[in-house]
Amino acid sequence: MTATFVGMPAFPAAARAALADTQLRHNLTHATHTIRDKRARVVAEVPDWEELRQAGADLKDAALLGLDRHLEQLEEALVARGAVVHWARDATEACRVVVQVVRAHGADEVVKVKSMATQEIGLNEALAAEGIAAWETDLAELIVQLGDDLPSHILVPAIHRNRAEIREIFRRRMAASGRPAPDDLSDDPSELANAARLHLREKFLRAKVGVSGANFAVAETGTLVVVESEGNGRMCLTLPEVLVSVVGIEKIVPTWADLDVFLRLLPRSSTGERMNPYTSMWHGLTPGDGPEEVHVVLLDNGRTRALSDRVGRQALRCIRCSACLNVCPVYERVGGHAYGSVYPGPIGAILNPLLRGVGDDPQVDSLPYASSLCGACYEVCPVRIDIPSVLVDLRSQVVDAHRRGRPRAEAVAMRSAAWTLSDSRRLARAERLSGRTGRWWTRLAQLPGPGRRWTSARDLPEPPAESFRAWWRRTRP
Ligand code: SF4
Repeated sequence: MTATFVGMPAFPAAARAALADTQLRHNLTHATHTIRDKRARVVAEVPDWEELRQAGADLKDAALLGLDRHLEQLEEALVARGAVVHWARDATEACRVVVQVVRAHGADEVVKVKSMATQEIGLNEALAAEGIAAWETDLAELIVQLGDDLPSHILVPAIHRNRAEIREIFRRRMAASGRPAPDDLSDDPSELANAARLHLREKFLRAKVGVSGANFAVAETGTLVVVESEGNGRMCLTLPEVLVSVVGIEKIVPTWADLDVFLRLLPRSSTGERMNPYTSMWHGLTPGDGPEEVHVVLLDNGRTRALSDRVGRQALRCIRCSACLNVCPVYERVGGHAYGSVYPGPIGAILNPLLRGVGDDPQVDSLPYASSLCGACYEVCPVRIDIPSVLVDLRSQVVDAHRRGRPRAEAVAMRSAAWTLSDSRRLARAERLSGRTGRWWTRLAQLPGPGRRWTSARDLPEPPAESFRAWWRRTRP
């Protein structure tokens, strides 16, 4: 993939350009409505769905509360089973580890399972800079990679493409990176899938190194879990001699019993299925079976920053199901590219500012405003992330960051009013003064300047000449 999100314009400008693309809107509406209808049907089958959501939220919160302990337990369990554990503070450190492992085995290519964490750190670009080719093996990721495109959805990265566009990409681009597409390729989904299967098969059989992420990491057993729909993930996890997994530290679940809840929540919320087609689990090395060397990179890259945010830390519960994207009226109209990140939609609007911080990048600062605050995302989220509340809190953080510590005139006025109103003698004095001079203050507020700006959308009633308390004293001596 040569395209990059770096340097993307702020959300309003990117959204305006996306809104002009009617084909994009048509593709998105069709795809998001199909997935959300499927989700609604299978969720309705579960009588205790709300209790399950609450359990998912509580388990994730408990895991994050003891994150330091659970991570050390995970490392211990992984090392005991023969894996090598690396800790990466940021994207640069994580990419460096993966490059070193690939270089140590003399490889110049890797096969990849679909992984948001590796996209977040720009791993493909870092590998390409070292002359190492990274082949995406998820069908949608392959479409994005061959089209020099960018992912626009968490679960279906090529959601903005229709079948005819995909056929054209395969016909034009497959030959440049391996087995070409058949000359008579049609836009029939089974033909497209078969062309991708044949194209990828030779890469699976040839690659020495596989790269993955993980949906979950079970601390007590050192088990990494990948859920996927196509079986390509299992090929990447088992065929190459070496496996490197880049895992965000928030993926931790303390026990096997906890995993049960998430494996019930995730497929229904993401693809609208009762069970996931492929759930692969591995813990370290198994002699004679699968890779002979396993590396696990535990990635921070802003997660501890997000964890320190009292309101925003709930975003780390996210299990990347994408249900919030499929119901979002803003996402449905502008698509994923407008968010300028591998994390688009409502979760992207909070996760990007939380991971990267606000106040430095106008693109990141624009994201908390990319929402109508309708609350649909909160209603479908399987781990009950209150995205609207986090958005509002982030908006206040953006405003504060740009204020750079200088109090605004309105804030000074409000603080003075609070000081006056909190003491009865001060209030009585202010009432006497306003009774005598109030008329002039009201007129002053009409003059050009901050007063007129403030009153342009607010009423400033003229204070009465005599306050209620003065009237009470005068009439009831
Ligand atoms: S925020 Fe909730 S609904 Fe959105 S992707 Fe994450 S878990 Fe799914």
